[in-house]
Amino acid sequence: MPPLYIINGREAKRALEHARKQVATAINGEQKEIYFTACGSESDNLALKGVSYANRQKGNHIITTKIEHPAILQACQTLEQQGYEITYLNVDENGIISLQELENAIKPTTILISVMFANNEIGSIQPIEEIGKIARKHTILFHTDSVQAVGNIKIDVEKCNIDLLSMSAHKFYGPKGVGALYVREGVLFERIQDGGHQEKNKRAGTENVAGIVGIGKAIELATQNLEQYCKRLGELKQQYINGIKERIPEAKLNGHPEKRLVGNINFSFPNIDGQELLLALDRKGICVSTGSACSSGLLNPSHVLLAIGLPREYAQGALRVSLGEENTKEDVQYLIDNVVEIVEQMKSMQ
Ligand code: PLP
Repeated sequence: MPPLYIINGREAKRALEHARKQVATAINGEQKEIYFTACGSESDNLALKGVSYANRQKGNHIITTKIEHPAILQACQTLEQQGYEITYLNVDENGIISLQELENAIKPTTILISVMFANNEIGSIQPIEEIGKIARKHTILFHTDSVQAVGNIKIDVEKCNIDLLSMSAHKFYGPKGVGALYVREGVLFERIQDGGHQEKNKRAGTENVAGIVGIGKAIELATQNLEQYCKRLGELKQQYINGIKERIPEAKLNGHPEKRLVGNINFSFPNIDGQELLLALDRKGICVSTGSACSSGLLNPSHVLLAIGLPREYAQGALRVSLGEENTKEDVQYLIDNVVEIVEQMKSMQ
């Protein structure tokens, strides 16, 4: 059977450029400053390694934080092995960096500051505008991993002096397998993957045209609906926080109380095994995550929970809930009732 619809090269090119414009518009960048990738991890790697390799003559020092996603932390480890020097900034108990510590960390050899916009585990939002000002004052490039922020927070690369920004489509209801990197015009960066000349010779490989059309449409819709989306999710978030605080008073909210992603709520239930809680919720049809990974029979708190200084008995009982577009008040009530019931059962068995 012949294909139902044939898209020729020119049409595909037009679709790519339209999506590039949509992505650029959403973050107040320019069309020519958007490079499509396969995911957020690739965008992060391209930003860190691409900038580091291209600016090696200027210096070898990079500043980042202890709570970045592994895509950043592991790229930094690779760069360390290649002779770069990395400073990992601390965060306070709310997961926020100190601007003073950032400024103190700057050296004549600093070429890049990479600080995530918002954290994926505890939801804390960094003072991005202030970080951008510091970077600009010292003429250092500023990258932000905005994989969690795009679609949840209004982003303006101009206002915040952002030079590079990573995003991933599936975080704002776009398709999986497509991401983008914003790179301010004039910023030197090298490609990190050998091959063809796609994406202005900065990212080799045949473009995922369908995915790219998807990221363009998804970011346009997310930006149009942002206010309404945040209002609705904000109410659901508050419902969950109030419900848990009222019925499990010893529960501790991790992350910043106000400066946090609208759909992210991370509570610690002291002396409760987070994995067990997760499995019990899973049996009730509730999908959540913990803040710990099990290795050799022991629960190891994540690097983020360790960085905010959470005591072990709290870190092991961390439960991250991500609310989304399709969740309702009834879902949240079902979640609260089940968390309360299971935590009480677990406590009574101790
Ligand atoms: N950075 C952050 C903050 C994330 O939360 C994620 C994924 O969850 C990534 C990077 C990686 O994105 P991707 O899964 O698209 O590679």
